[in-house]
Amino acid sequence: PSIIHWFRRDLRIADNPSLSSAAESGLPLVPLYITSDWQGRHHWTGPNRQQFLCGSLAALAKNLETLGGRLIVRRGGAIAELRKIIRECRAAALHYHASPDPFGKSVETQVSLLCAELGVECHIHADIALHGPDEVLTQSGQPYRVFTPYFRNWENLPKSSPIAKPRPFKTPDHLTSLPLPTVADWGLEVPETQIAEPGESAARGRLKHAIAGKIENYSASRDFPGADGTSRISQDLRHGLVSIRTVHAACLKARAAADHVGKAGIDTFIKELAWREFYFAILHHFPNVLREEFNADWRGLEWHEPGRDFEAWKTGTTGFPIVDAGMRELLATGFMHNRVRMITAMFLTKDLHIDWKLGESWFMRHLVDGEIASNNGGWQWSAGTGADAAPYFRIQNPWSQTARYDPDGVYIKRWIPELAKVHPSRFLEPPKDGRPLAPGYPLPCVDHKTERERTLAIFNRLRSQK
Ligand code: FAD
Repeated sequence: PSIIHWFRRDLRIADNPSLSSAAESGLPLVPLYITSDWQGRHHWTGPNRQQFLCGSLAALAKNLETLGGRLIVRRGGAIAELRKIIRECRAAALHYHASPDPFGKSVETQVSLLCAELGVECHIHADIALHGPDEVLTQSGQPYRVFTPYFRNWENLPKSSPIAKPRPFKTPDHLTSLPLPTVADWGLEVPETQIAEPGESAARGRLKHAIAGKIENYSASRDFPGADGTSRISQDLRHGLVSIRTVHAACLKARAAADHVGKAGIDTFIKELAWREFYFAILHHFPNVLREEFNADWRGLEWHEPGRDFEAWKTGTTGFPIVDAGMRELLATGFMHNRVRMITAMFLTKDLHIDWKLGESWFMRHLVDGEIASNNGGWQWSAGTGADAAPYFRIQNPWSQTARYDPDGVYIKRWIPELAKVHPSRFLEPPKDGRPLAPGYPLPCVDHKTERERTLAIFNRLRSQK
């Protein structure tokens, strides 16, 4: 008999609880990855994240060899493939990590049934968060709807430490494996995007760089998209290239050695890690957020049909430099700075009056770090409809956001080459002379003040109808 560890979004050998538990048995171990067999355009998936996944799987295969094992790749529906491999390797047990989203969870229900049917032990481990959704509840056992009390509770719970070292193991020789996947397997083309380097060791490098050089100044620099002020580890947490325990332990170590300012920076950073878990909890307890507004008051808002303006938003040609820079960063790299995610999301919903679900979907398709819970949370926050969201009347002005967070136009010029020679003061208000900022760069597609009033009217109308 042997034992299976099914890799899902935990593409690493370090601090991998499920892999370690499976290896502890001393039985031959099958490290398995099942690639999905959907083809072509998928509502929420695009080439950037798949390319990163492929690179990370290639790195994982190499890393497993250092432990003595061999990655077994299969392709198809998870249940059918698990059924086959359980038989082939006469598995006594299956180990894997629980998924944070309803799609992954529905597969888990079927996997448990399959294991029961086949008489195989099924071990589901927690991995994705420091605290699962049912660990952080109000005194009456209810989920939190607001972040601050959630965080107060979260912060005080004891955190587990990473596992010291991965254990060596052997993979049965007779098992066949498909070649490592490429994006062509899903009918996608290799993206020309400059995505982050995939793989566990690149991720560890990014974490090290962030902890050593960035997070002590995090409070001061994180909101400035032109500065390299954030950790850039989101795609690594998304694919499990580093564990959240490793990230948290590194923060605590740095915090112990930091001065007053450094400690504050690290605390702010840890709070962001808690936002990630807050959104996991929201999605777990309120999975309807994927279909409708979290806040029932705002169900039924009148959205505009997406037309030319939506195309302009997607391609970074709205004539609002900060919005266009963000959308172009996304197209060029599969990443967008958090401050600009908020600006572009608010612009879509409050200036163009386009349904946040369309923006959510566009982001999911392009982001390498596309995380269902955080993306939904971020979109509903920006639309003013979410858990602990920005109130609907607090509408960010893209021009004054630029004055605050990119006053010298560093970020704008980085992503919009047409504007390289334009004085940054001109990015802070609509062109006074009514002429484009540069040849080939469009005039603003809407007037912010007018659209702001329209948004307030839309929200107020709905409120008065309820
Ligand atoms: P850092 O600032 O260094 O933060 C460290 C880590 O904390 C991040 O890697 C991330 O895991 C977590 N984090 C930080 N801010 C948030 C937040 N507001 N919500 C949840 N987790 C957070 N994040 C995703 O990981 N995937 C998404 O699909 C995603 N979509 C978003 C959509 C919108 C509209 C908005 C406003 C935010 C979204 N975020 C998403 C949150 C945030 O923008 C990114 O996590 C962050 O920009 C990643 O960069 P970083 O790793 O340098 O972050």
